[in-house]
Formats: sequence, structure tokens, C-alpha cells
Amino acid sequence: MVRTAVFSVAAACLVLMSVGCQEAQQQQPDIVRVGDKVFQYVQTDTGRWLIHDMNRPTPDIITPGTESTQEAPGTAPSDAIVLFDGKDLDEWTDTKGGPSKWVIQDGYMESVKGAGYIQTKRLFGSCQLHVEFATPSNVQGSSQGRGNSGVFLMNTYEVQVLDSYDNVTYADGQCGTLYGRAVPLVNACRKPGQWQSFDIIFHRPTFKDGKVDRKATFTIFHNGVLIHNHVELQGGTGWKGPHAISDYEPHADALPIALQDHGNPVRYRNVWARELQD
Ligand code: MG
Repeated sequence: MVRTAVFSVAAACLVLMSVGCQEAQQQQPDIVRVGDKVFQYVQTDTGRWLIHDMNRPTPDIITPGTESTQEAPGTAPSDAIVLFDGKDLDEWTDTKGGPSKWVIQDGYMESVKGAGYIQTKRLFGSCQLHVEFATPSNVQGSSQGRGNSGVFLMNTYEVQVLDSYDNVTYADGQCGTLYGRAVPLVNACRKPGQWQSFDIIFHRPTFKDGKVDRKATFTIFHNGVLIHNHVELQGGTGWKGPHAISDYEPHADALPIALQDHGNPVRYRNVWARELQD
């Protein structure tokens, strides 16, 4: 009786899988009843498993990193790609593939006016990205001219870095914005000169026939505070004039992560990434 029930569910699934059963099964277990007992099965990337099945593969074991303090950067999780640990710029180039003129000192790298963006040699699509930054303690300028830099996913989509502590600017350009597109839920900025963090969960856009097929999404924590909650990016973040922003333009599936030189000496430390499935 059990065998019959299991086979009938399996047979039904085989038919339905051709029309998208697999995805539905991840959300809703199929059910086998044996007498008064209920057995629920879920279809997963690793196979079909009974709920609470001791044979279901468990996640890889990794060693978490350590938390940063104002005095010292923490460390990356053991499965992360360390992009900058304060020692060298081996993982980075300028925009032409040559050595960057950004400087390293005391465990951080700092943008140099006129040096241009710095970008990773490695290419990334969807990823988890941890970045720490500090805007200048010597406060100069105002609005977009104060502590401006940026974290660019896929060399394209800017998470704005700005000194937004007691600094008025347009809402969709303050620190933590998806520049020109999405305003953070709160302003979680620390004072200029203090170390701050972005933890970014990014899913890349996909393109089909020259148009966006699936829009990018961002979830971002700023200093541990949620500022974007699975936000769907509606287009590009490129500046197209005082009151205009760029559209999506098709691009490769993986591109560098870049940090912006906007003419202000912004510092970065403890940069790491973990690749994610799309
Ligand atoms: Mg910027």
C-alpha cells in the first residue's frame, strides 16, 4: 500500500515536472498517507526528501568571520573570496587593467583624486558583498561633494557612499541609495571618519533580446541595519543629468566589482564576497 502510494505520487510528479512541478514542490510538500500517518516529501536541489529526513545532506561547514571594531577590521568567513585585507591591491586594477594609484596605509586603501575607479580582477554576478568604508574625518564640501564614493556591483549598479551624517542632499543620492533609484529605509550613517559597513545581497539582472528579462535585486544592511529589503532595481544608476538616470543596458553575466573615485579621499577595508546562485 505504501509502495503504491509512493509510486502514484512519483508518477504524477513525473508528468507534472514537465510543466513546472519541481518549483511548486519546493514550496508545497507532496503527501503520502499510510494509515493515520502522514509523510511529506519535498523536491530540492539535492533530491526528493522526507521532511526531517536524517539522510538529507546538511550544509557545508564553514568558519564565520569575526566582527570589526573601529580600531581593527574583522575577518572574512572561510568560504569568502577576500578582495582586500589591508595588505595589498593584488585583487584590484584600474579601469584599464593596470596598477591602481589608490594608496594603502594602516590596513586600508584610500581613493586618490584623479586616479579613477578601482575594480576587482575577478568577475562577479550575483553575490554577497561585505565592504567597510570611512568618509574623511576632515569634513569638507557639502551635499554630493562630501565623502562621495560608491560601490558598483557589476561595474554598473552603484550603492552610494557619501558622508550623510548631518549633510543634506537629495534623498535618492544619500549614503546607501541605489543611486537615483531607491532611497534607504533609514539613514544609518556614522560620523565622518568612523568605520561603517555595507552588507549587500545582490542578484544580477538577466537580459533577453536586448531587454531586461529579470531585474536586479538588492538587500542591504548599513552598519547592521536593513536599508533595502529585497528591492527590485528598476533600471541603471548612471547619472544622466541633474534630474535623469540611466536605463538598463544588456551586459555580461559577470563583471568586476568597482569602487568609485569621486574626488574625495574615502577609505576602504575588509572587503570580501561570496558568490551566489542566480
Ligand atoms: Mg558616488
